[in-house]
Formats: sequence, structure tokens, C-alpha cells
Amino acid sequence: MGRIIAIANQKGGVGKTTTAINLSACLAEKGQKVLAVDIDPQGNMTSGLGLEKEAVDKTIYDLMIGEATIEDVIYKEVIENLDILPTDINLSGAEIELIGTDNKEFIIRNEVHKVKEEYDFIIIDCPPSLSVLTINAMTTADTVLVPIQCEYYALEGLSQLIHTIELVKERLNPGLEMEGVVFTMYDARTNLSLQVVENVKDNLNQTIYKTIIPRNIRLAEAPSYGMPINKYDSKSTGADSYRRLAEEVINK
Ligand code: ADP
Ligand code: MG
Repeated sequence: MGRIIAIANQKGGVGKTTTAINLSACLAEKGQKVLAVDIDPQGNMTSGLGLEKEAVDKTIYDLMIGEATIEDVIYKEVIENLDILPTDINLSGAEIELIGTDNKEFIIRNEVHKVKEEYDFIIIDCPPSLSVLTINAMTTADTVLVPIQCEYYALEGLSQLIHTIELVKERLNPGLEMEGVVFTMYDARTNLSLQVVENVKDNLNQTIYKTIIPRNIRLAEAPSYGMPINKYDSKSTGADSYRRLAEEVINK
């Protein structure tokens, strides 16, 4: 049965999309059937997994405004074992177009749950906000995975995020759980990264993944080639760490 994981943090630049791309790809590499769902209008997950804008006709935007069915918007086997539900920039207007629509928090859920059984994992990349799109991801998901960047303000905004998850659980999706926290962009040369990890461990009563994603230039380069890290540089420390994270997620 499919497990749906939303990758969320309203802060930008913390490694959500990098984690969404590479966790999806490494799960697929391990033989898991994966659906990657991109609900960030920026579309970086879509392009980072190698699905080019020109190749995309219908997107999750068309799905949200009722002009496409889920079958129309799933691009199959973009990578072996990995299908994509892409986004496009029009999605940035969805919030406004949905004003006054009934049950607008459940539009993605209602569609994605039609195909849930076809996948082992459905990974949703969220935009950097607590918008109706992120709420849609949280009503769709079984769990929320929160990337935390190893930097000074790491904990900032986190209580608001956790409060949002609790509200969604209470009012919209009773089954929602925290998947856990994953540290990203860890820099072993600085004490700061280590301090952030220790501080979050002490102050946050959440599951924390053992795998810590290091700062690795290959991870930053890969998207411009439209490749996940396991394809771009299979032997890099970035690939190694996302493979270990995938293993942990499978075994959880
Ligand atoms: P978000 O989706 O949370 O906004 P991104 O995944 O897009 O964050 O990451 C922000 C920037 O940091 C991107 O340029 C990305 O390539 C880079 N980045 C993310 N993770 C790493 C990492 N582990 N090592 C090096 N660069 C990274
Ligand atoms: Mg992103």
C-alpha cells in the first residue's frame, strides 16, 4: 500500500526540493514504485527529475481547476519505476482561482488517492509557504518530512510548521503523522552544523533521521542537467547519503 510523504517547510532554500528529487529517485533505484508530485509552481522537482517543460501538456494546475483527470497528468516512467505529476507556473494563481470553492483543501487528496494503490511511495514537494497548496499536500499525505538546514536560524519557523501540521491533523486529516526531520547541507568543517544538530535534537521532540545530508556541490549541480544525484554522480557523497535516507525511509 502506498505511503504518501509531503516534504514541507515554509522556509525557502532548506533542501526540500533537493530531498524530494533525490529521495524519490533513490527509492525508485531500490525498486520501489514512486510517484513524484510537484506542487511548487517553480517546478524545480519536475525539471530536476528530467521532465522538460516542453514535454508537459497538462499539469497539476489543470487537475486542480477541474480541467484534467489524474490519468491525464501522470507522466509515466520518466525514470525507471518513477512517474511524475508535474506542476507549472500557473499553479501560483491557484490560490486565487480557488477562492470560494468547496473543499479546496482536499482537491489534490481526492485525485491522488485514486492512484495511491499503484505506488509504494508518493513524494510531494511543497512550496515555501503555508498556502492552500501546502495544506493540500498535508491533507493528501500520511506523513510530513521536514528538512532542516544546518544553519544558525534552523529552528526559526519550526514551531509554526508543527502547529500547522497539528491543526491539519485535528481538523482535516486525522491520520497525519510526522515522518521526521532530516538535516541538510551539513558542513563538517564548521562547528555550527554540529551545534545546530545537537540543539535541534535537544529541543525538538520528533523523529530525527540518522542520515544527515552533507553539503555537496554535486547535489547543487545535478538539477541543471535534469538528473537526480544517483544518475548525475552515482559515487558522490550526496548520492550515498540520499541512498541511505531512502533505505531508512523504507525500513521505517
Ligand atoms: P527548497 O526546496 O527548500 O527551497 P532547495 O532544495 O531548492 O531548497 O535547495 C536550495 C539550494 O541549495 C539549491 O540551490 C540547491 O541546489 C542547494 N542545495 C540543497 N541541498 C544541498 C546540499 N546538500 N549540498 C549543496 N547544495 C544543496
Ligand atoms: Mg523547493
